[in-house]
Amino acid sequence: MKLSVTIIRSKRKSISLRVNEAGKIEVRAPLKMKTEDIERFIKDKTSWIKKQINENERKNLFSKQFDFERYNYILGQAFDKEPNFSYKNRAEKVLLQLAQIISKAINIEFKSYRIITSKRVWGTFSNKKELSLNYKCVILPENLTRYIIIHELCHSKEMNHSPKFWNLVRKFCPDYKILKKQLNDYSFLLKQKDLK
Ligand SMILES: [Zn+2]
Repeated sequence: MKLSVTIIRSKRKSISLRVNEAGKIEVRAPLKMKTEDIERFIKDKTSWIKKQINENERKNLFSKQFDFERYNYILGQAFDKEPNFSYKNRAEKVLLQLAQIISKAINIEFKSYRIITSKRVWGTFSNKKELSLNYKCVILPENLTRYIIIHELCHSKEMNHSPKFWNLVRKFCPDYKILKKQLNDYSFLLKQKDLK
């Protein structure tokens, strides 16, 4: 594999490296750093870089299995696209129903509920006990949507991501670590433009 690297020099103290979403490698280096030192730094990181690129490619392939022009996806299942379909309307009903069932099952309440549009988060939980869910949660396989709802409701008890919080999540969702990883593959959905 041949690596193409862009070196960006600026007034900074340390060297950093990242693989962007297009698979391009960007190295940010201090103005005065010797080129050979930068090259050595990149060489040392080669196996890490290759791993990142493979991971990007895997995620890209994963996202290509979805065809939003032809299908509507509801809780992981594909349906032929309907003319007046709206993800937001569907999410409003489906996610509320699911949240109510889960809230009862784990005995953690929410006071209000809201569908949100966000390119960053699947959901949030406020200190006023408002559960907000990204409408795109309705597209995910049901076990991932359930994980998100459990995660947010657990913030009712722990407003952080401490070990105590994760213990609580584990109680209701023993395989949360696997689900979290799977959810990561769907991050392309978050970044994607609004879906009708
Ligand atoms: Zn959280």
